Amino acid sequence: MHIRKRILITGGAGFIGSHLSEVLLQQGHDVLCVDNFFTGTKDNLEHLFDNSHFELLRHDVTFPLYVEVDEIYNLACPASPIHYQHDPVQTTKTSVHGAINMLGLAKRTKAKILQASTSEVYGDPEIHPQTEDYWGHVNPIGFRSCYDEGKRCAETLFFDYHRQHKLRIKVARIFNTYGPRMHPNDGRVVSNFIVQALQGKDITIYGDGSQSRSFCYVDDLVDVLIRLMNSKDSFTGPVNTGNPGEFTIKELAEHVITLTGSKSKLIFKPLPSDDPRQRQPNIELARKELGWEPKVALKEGLIKTIAYFDELLKH
Ligand code: NAD
Ligand code: UDP
Repeated sequence: MHIRKRILITGGAGFIGSHLSEVLLQQGHDVLCVDNFFTGTKDNLEHLFDNSHFELLRHDVTFPLYVEVDEIYNLACPASPIHYQHDPVQTTKTSVHGAINMLGLAKRTKAKILQASTSEVYGDPEIHPQTEDYWGHVNPIGFRSCYDEGKRCAETLFFDYHRQHKLRIKVARIFNTYGPRMHPNDGRVVSNFIVQALQGKDITIYGDGSQSRSFCYVDDLVDVLIRLMNSKDSFTGPVNTGNPGEFTIKELAEHVITLTGSKSKLIFKPLPSDDPRQRQPNIELARKELGWEPKVALKEGLIKTIAYFDELLKH
């Protein structure tokens, strides 16, 4: 028999949250999104407004929230460097106070709670590819620290609530994820390159473009987040969620130019401070515990993302 769960998604109006909402509604659940609309928008969820099982609430997770739910996906937090560095104090508060408030809610309602953590907990990693037992190489006082250390502290809180209060927790370390509904001006590399290519502007490579990232298409990421939430209680993570296909930033730029047929030129700009040199998830744990691996290759995902931005830029 199908059990309709009441599911809370914080940061639900953002890029990943909007896709997650869609899939959980399709699976027959009640979805409540809370968002302060800092980087997310109602436009990302507009197509769900007619569904009577969907609700959207304007709320900042740094303040307590009283609702009755069975599961919580804690996604609230700006994710792109431009956005999280805009108001760094608020970024740390969102991760830390947000985690405390949502863990408190989970404790009161006995809900299961999943944290959207990040590969940034590894900082500029000294081991490659990264496995979950690596403690990281993070600058505590740099421009990225508000995000990295906020997310690290949130992981600490999750594990202390688990040990101290027996909460059912799940921690996903998400690696670079892309797809439709990324913010066009958020400065992240995939959206930047696609928008620049479609507008015939120069493609801005920071540094010499030899730094690497591994890019996961959003549908694969939503699939693994739901599998993680539904996994046995004894499996808490942290678990790497990402696509191990690793590309240099220059290779990504070349793919985007080929797939858009753009005449844009590559230009080189200074590398931001603390920019990680390389990043690739080892996903053996997700394979073993969740039976998951990504299905969408970079080319296929880029084609879908380019189609989205092409449409968006016409309006
Ligand atoms: P996003 O910026 O599109 O979504 C984040 C959402 O959180 C936005 O809708 C924003 O308005 C909301 N938000 C921010 N502060 C809030 C607050 N104080 N109260 C309520 N809502 C708030 O980013 P995304 O890419 O969808 O990321 C979602 C989550 O996944 C984030 O926690 C991010 O750190 C994590 N993550 C994302 C990636 C990625 O590559 N996209 C990688 C690692 C981790
Ligand atoms: N980057 C780039 N040009 C851009 C935007 C980003 O070369 O226009 C680089 C950035 O310096 C980093 C990589 O692309 O090395 C990924 O950047 P992003 O901001 O997407 O994510 P993160 O650094 O958090 O992985």
